[in-house]
Amino acid sequence: MATTDFDFAAWPPQLTPEQLQILVGKATSRALATGLLYLPPGYPLDSPPPQAAIHAPLSLLPAPFPRESFELAQEIQSVYNTLYAQIAMDTPFLDEVMGAEKGVGKVDEFIGELWRGWKKLRDSGRISQPLHLGLFRSDYLYHMPENGLQTLKQVEFNTISVSFGCLSQRIAELHRHLLLSTSYFGSSPHLKPENLPQNDTIAGLASGLGAAHAAYVSTGGSSTSKILFVVQPGERNVFDQKWLEYELLEKHNIHAVRQTFEELITSSSVDPQTSLLTVSPKNSPEQDTEVSVVYYRSGYMPNEYPSPEYYETRFRLESSKAIKCPTIPLQLAGGKKVQEVLGRKGLVERFLPDLPQSQIDDLRKTFMDMWGLDEDSQTAVGEVGSSPPASAAPNGDAASEPLGTLKARKEYASLVLKPQREGGGNNVYKGDIPAFLDGLPPQEREAWIAMRLIEVPKGVKGWLVRAGSLDFATTSPSERAVQAEIVSELGIFGWALFGDGQVVAEEEVGWLVRTKGKDSNEGGVATGFSVLDSVLLV
Ligand code: ADP
Ligand code: MG
Ligand code: MG
Repeated sequence: MATTDFDFAAWPPQLTPEQLQILVGKATSRALATGLLYLPPGYPLDSPPPQAAIHAPLSLLPAPFPRESFELAQEIQSVYNTLYAQIAMDTPFLDEVMGAEKGVGKVDEFIGELWRGWKKLRDSGRISQPLHLGLFRSDYLYHMPENGLQTLKQVEFNTISVSFGCLSQRIAELHRHLLLSTSYFGSSPHLKPENLPQNDTIAGLASGLGAAHAAYVSTGGSSTSKILFVVQPGERNVFDQKWLEYELLEKHNIHAVRQTFEELITSSSVDPQTSLLTVSPKNSPEQDTEVSVVYYRSGYMPNEYPSPEYYETRFRLESSKAIKCPTIPLQLAGGKKVQEVLGRKGLVERFLPDLPQSQIDDLRKTFMDMWGLDEDSQTAVGEVGSSPPASAAPNGDAASEPLGTLKARKEYASLVLKPQREGGGNNVYKGDIPAFLDGLPPQEREAWIAMRLIEVPKGVKGWLVRAGSLDFATTSPSERAVQAEIVSELGIFGWALFGDGQVVAEEEVGWLVRTKGKDSNEGGVATGFSVLDSVLLV
């Protein structure tokens, strides 16, 4: 892959305080006008109808990203869609890697619980819907090592509750608007329309949900069945979900119903004969609603299942005839352990036997070096299950630690450690690694992977605009936009509908950039100070 000669350290172009003020005003106005919004902090948990909203945190300028890498990420999304579909359909593989008898589920309570529930359904013949739907987001950073090849590297592949698809389209439109409206005051020759790619994520994600709904209806489901959005209580990122609901209704004539897990404990039922899933709508005289697709915008963190009833509810939905986005196996396929195992020799080929070698090579080039902390052999891990079980050494007894842990101790300065969690804030970085390893109970090593840090472009700065506030007194214009050294993470959205060994349909549908101040280690936009962004191809 060709390297870029773009000077990242010289970004962003010079803008006067007056020009910045104009851009901030235009950006926040556009965000408010087009639904690039969150509910304000402290919004009541019992979800009364919204009365006010604030604009999401946003970047004033699009983030420079090498064109070839961006295009490669788009091109290989179809391969990733198919790969993760195949993984989700490979039950023995998931049992071995993520299961509670042989895999990570032994030591990770949450993963174990999900796997056991799924296993029970399988063993009792209660999986009644062969199709799975995945709405995916593959995340990347641009790798620019001091010595070595500049290239696109994957951070992770998300298979549950991927967010910001709709808002990412709005921010791309916002940057296009600023360009149209101000030409960014002629501050950079890179800021021109052909470098701001199109982003139609909303239509794309809705077409995935629409395809699943159509498949459900075509196999005997009611044409008036609805898509169930399983949402978190107190969710502030609701407008990202609302745009999807509107698109489903207006373009596909599909209605949605929103409920939390807590509500579904009592409102959902599955007919024992037909496996039909129905929910009783809250605060509504309407009859029970038949559900065609269960779309999770929740359910990926242990604290979302505070008692066994919540797991039972998840398993009840899983047993139904409705198509789940995602199923439990597809959620498990998104585990970081699976990503690590995929890096081992021959694994991609095993899942995609018909893929030309050149495409496998393209895919593999996006992998960063990863290994398990419990791994005892760095070279003989060609086969899944070839790693002996973690040794029972006492904490801190370096002499008897597995090689994977020893290697992490030695190379900690260039690593991040990750458990099997989603949603940000769970990783351990660089200098924190040695002390963390000292305190990690040996049996828990299996739940963690080590990953080489991607070396992002240095010295690149951006203008970050904080989220709006209802407290007008504290938000002077100069406080709203801050300049910071930044890291921009690209996400590519895709979907796949699959089952019974076949991928029925899949598509690459759009992209997202999240930009964060470099001092914070994590990328979640809803937590900390990171912002929604779009891409400037360079
Ligand atoms: P989560 O599922 O919680 O989002 P991620 O694997 O995406 O977990 O890690 C969270 C954040 O940590 C990423 O958004 C990125 O900013 C940072 N990160 C993760 N892996 C790497 C890596 N290999 N190199 C550099 N930064 C990383
Ligand atoms: Mg992530
Ligand atoms: Mg994730």
